[in-house]
Amino acid sequence: MTHGHAVVLGGSMAGLLTARVLTEHFDRVTIVDRDELAGGWSGDPDADPRERAVRRGVPQGRHAHGLLAAGLNVIEELFPGATGELAAAGMPTGDVLGNVRFCANGHRLKQVPTGMAAVSFSRPYLETWVRSKVLALPGVEVRGGHDIIGIASDDATAAARTRVVGARIQSLDGPAQTLAADLVVDATGKGSRAPRWLAELGYERPREERLQVDLAYVSRPYRVAPALLDGDIAIIIGPSAAAPRGGAVMLQEGGRAVITLFGILGDHAPLDDAGFRAYAKRLPLPYVSDIIEASEPLADEAVKYRFPGSTRHRYDRLRRFPPGFVVVGDALCSFNPMYGQGMSVAGVEALMLGSHLKTGHFDALRFFRAVRPVVDIPWQIATGGDAALPGVDGPRDLGTRMVNRYLDRLYAAAAHDEVVSRAFSRVTNLLDPPAALLRPGIARRVLGRRRSAIV
Ligand SMILES: Cc1cc2nc3c(=O)[nH]c(=O)nc-3n(C[C@H](O)[C@H](O)[C@H](O)COP(=O)(O)OP(=O)(O)OC[C@H]3O[C@@H](n4cnc5c(N)ncnc54)[C@H](O)[C@@H]3O)c2cc1C
Repeated sequence: MTHGHAVVLGGSMAGLLTARVLTEHFDRVTIVDRDELAGGWSGDPDADPRERAVRRGVPQGRHAHGLLAAGLNVIEELFPGATGELAAAGMPTGDVLGNVRFCANGHRLKQVPTGMAAVSFSRPYLETWVRSKVLALPGVEVRGGHDIIGIASDDATAAARTRVVGARIQSLDGPAQTLAADLVVDATGKGSRAPRWLAELGYERPREERLQVDLAYVSRPYRVAPALLDGDIAIIIGPSAAAPRGGAVMLQEGGRAVITLFGILGDHAPLDDAGFRAYAKRLPLPYVSDIIEASEPLADEAVKYRFPGSTRHRYDRLRRFPPGFVVVGDALCSFNPMYGQGMSVAGVEALMLGSHLKTGHFDALRFFRAVRPVVDIPWQIATGGDAALPGVDGPRDLGTRMVNRYLDRLYAAAAHDEVVSRAFSRVTNLLDPPAALLRPGIARRVLGRRRSAIV
């Protein structure tokens, strides 16, 4: 049964996927964003460049974005037939392991079919497709060109009873107004001001956990002949302790590709052609550099995005939270993008929000606590992986050091052993927890290899 009005603050991936879920529980869903979000979908990657346009609110759209299997599963669940439609719209598709060349710690993982699909795309194109689906749903309205100023409460002086009853928004040239709502969802990304809004209402701010990495993504669009990738749709070279920098080639719609180089702790790729190419040559493996050298750049220079570090807001640890309000996506936790998790985690959160709304007694604190393992696992993967890199001030306890040593051996094994490679791929795609890599069937294969064979 649907009733009432939900307002979603932020119309990026978390906001859109959440809005899709909310349509099952509310008569009306309004998405607010400072960018204009209207615009049709032609489905032809060459017909309308607006479909690929990077918007101001999502500057990361210029950089490589991958969707993990867990995320594609969510998109399939919310939009049945999505994978086929995305392929028909020109997004390269393949198998999540068989056609994605993943390299970890200097090892190229063995590629075998898993039966799980993968889609490669430019971030704006995927977002435009999802948006076209969500905006076509009955009851969904969009307020583009509006700044979100805050949330509105029923009684700001009595915190114990304060309920969020709407959002304060303002168009560029108009007065501020209140958009009344039965539920307000904050999906404004890592710049979310929800902690401040809570404090203004007399609630405690969530504690913040951070892991600084001073990462930069440096990306350049290219025209890449697909044959250069030898049947793969994407190549990802992760950083290793010996060479803590990485790179990715992602084929996209319309015969284009984005090539991204990333490095941490100030070791950032230069933007100019010669510097970009020289940096790529010093990645742990040559695949990305080889593609750069054989392809035509579509921009004079690369563009840069700096990411200081992963940040998690512990809403799950709060004791009080105002009814009528909830926080999702990067606003809840923003992960080091090297692990490609943000959109997928936002999708899983959206599905969980739906199941909590189904109970008829939505309690945001209960939702945050239920979502804890959904965030814990990618957080552990991202911060644990970062901690293995020299100079990162991450967890250094014995457990983390042992896990990282085990992973070094696992990567070496996965280069030759398809069982290990598949198991690893399921973990990085957020289908299995990291503990799956310690199961006896995998551990025997990892630890049973002679040391001489794995160094
Ligand atoms: C360089 C980079 C690479 C990434 N690569 C990947 C990847 O490979 N795979 C992956 O899954 N994820 C990746 N991510 C993360 C991914 O982009 C996000 O997780 C994803 O977009 C979901 O974020 P979100 O919707 O919560 O917030 P955002 O995408 O940040 O969107 C926030 C929205 O809110 C709007 N907004 C914010 N404040 C206001 C305001 N005051 N008023 C009005 N509107 C406002 C913005 O305009 C925007 O539309 C990457 C991130 C970065 C930075």
